[in-house]
Amino acid sequence: MQYYSLNRQAPSVDFRAATLAGQAPDGGLYFPETIPRFSPQLLQSLRTLPKAELALQVMQPYVGTTIPAAELARICAETVDFSFPVVSVTEQIAALELFHGPTLAFKDVGARFMSRCLGYFSRQQTRAVTVLVATSGDTGGAVANGFLGVEGVEVVILYPAGKVSPVQEQQLTALGQNITALEVQGNFDDCQQLVKQAFTDAAVTSHLTLTSANSINVARWLPQQLYYLYASQQWPHPEPPVVAVPSGNFGNLCAGLLAYASGLPVSHFIAACNANDAVARYLRTGDFAARPAVATLSNAMDVGNPSNFGRILELFAQNHATISGLISGGTVTDAETSATIRRVHQQTGYLLDPHGAVAFHTLEAYLHTRPGQHGLFLETAHPVKFPEVVEPLIGQAIAVPPALHELMRQPKRSIALEPRYEALREYLLTR
Ligand SMILES: *Cc1c(COP(=O)(O)O)cnc(C)c1O
Repeated sequence: MQYYSLNRQAPSVDFRAATLAGQAPDGGLYFPETIPRFSPQLLQSLRTLPKAELALQVMQPYVGTTIPAAELARICAETVDFSFPVVSVTEQIAALELFHGPTLAFKDVGARFMSRCLGYFSRQQTRAVTVLVATSGDTGGAVANGFLGVEGVEVVILYPAGKVSPVQEQQLTALGQNITALEVQGNFDDCQQLVKQAFTDAAVTSHLTLTSANSINVARWLPQQLYYLYASQQWPHPEPPVVAVPSGNFGNLCAGLLAYASGLPVSHFIAACNANDAVARYLRTGDFAARPAVATLSNAMDVGNPSNFGRILELFAQNHATISGLISGGTVTDAETSATIRRVHQQTGYLLDPHGAVAFHTLEAYLHTRPGQHGLFLETAHPVKFPEVVEPLIGQAIAVPPALHELMRQPKRSIALEPRYEALREYLLTR
């Protein structure tokens, strides 16, 4: 499989090169040259295929010959080594829970797959790969955890001091091993700026093999289609589901669309957005306009200019009629998000996180006028990651899952960094 740049000003590359580079040299996103079809045998045996085997079959054509089959089988097995249950919430609606991984959010699968691929590719390099990443909270935890203990890969994470939640800070700083956390005395934009500058500094890039591990990397994007196959394996109704996806950068939804384009039956998709709804507007009107991001309760979706939107357009040859026939957009206010968390908890006992609540709300509205249909929404994070939003709404504390107890007890280890590029440069050049 070759990948071309959506800007079409860079050569096509294989999976290895696309993963190592992240973004094409012309600034474009990489996109697969062909969309593989799932074989009839795969679709027929879906219910009985073990998760890891299914992952291997789905990822194999994308990876091609860049990773030997036995190695890829091991990577797939480690990546999906936890559960993805479909849980019934109402008569019409089920949750696909994607928070059973080590950092309790869906980004674990992409981060684990990419980190292991990079680990494999770095064995062919003469020196370690250094992943340099800025985080506002959640992504950093998934990346750090994904790379923990992966040989040949060093991770340096910049995060804004005092601006991440206690659970998030532990996930960044308490791991040790090959993970270093730089605690920047500034905000997220400072962190992002410092990282960007390092990638353009020839002294740094010749001293270290830098890679970005950001969310547009094909090795993070592509394995997310597995969620939709795992949902199908468990789906109890004869007609395929309506699927609502809480969306920010649109990697997750776009991966679902890829699975659909490969032959997975899905009735309809809903792009569930908070106030940052440029794509929902496009679906309604045919016009796309990026806007500055606004802060909401579902903050992992606060993206004004979603990077994966270009991939959605490419997948359907820019055809607005096709795209808007398959995907509906929904815009949900913070007041609706809060009311949904409270009401669903009261009526069903199910506790939504703010991101899942946005998706639940759009799905409920869609199914309201379609009484015979059934749908599922992607519950992308555990509510315990957002206690300041959820606990006041339900009037009780959320129990910390056992998986976090151990981590919360570990000592925090971070290196303070002034928000000046010279400080980061000096740190990197002396590593
Ligand atoms: C990242 C994230 C999203 C948005 O996913 P995209 O693939 O960027 O659209 C939704 N919910 C949670 C909890 C997230 O961390």
